[in-house]
Amino acid sequence: MARLEHPSPTAPHYAWFHCPGCDTKHAVSTSGPGCWTWNGSLDRPTLTPSVLVRTGRAVDSAWVREEGDPPDVCHSFVTDGRIQFLSDCTHALAGQTVDLPELEPHHG
Ligand SMILES: [Zn+2]
Repeated sequence: MARLEHPSPTAPHYAWFHCPGCDTKHAVSTSGPGCWTWNGSLDRPTLTPSVLVRTGRAVDSAWVREEGDPPDVCHSFVTDGRIQFLSDCTHALAGQTVDLPELEPHHG
């Protein structure tokens, strides 16, 4: 089953995956300037270079965290359907490599 959604229904030049560290979706562009290279596989995707997501206090030192906010930093390599979290992640999966979760099939 697919671990990457591409194209996204609302953004055709973006691919999405569900990040188990942030428990939210991350998107990368797959065409245009600065885009990621994708191996073309939905089941066992590889994206290069790494995916770095910075929010909250990582971009604003005055940020006040609230319940439900995503982790401040998520930095990962998606390779062959697995996600390797680098040590600079601020979530519990920092430094670990896990399978990307399978996505529910789309209906409509
Ligand atoms: Zn993440």
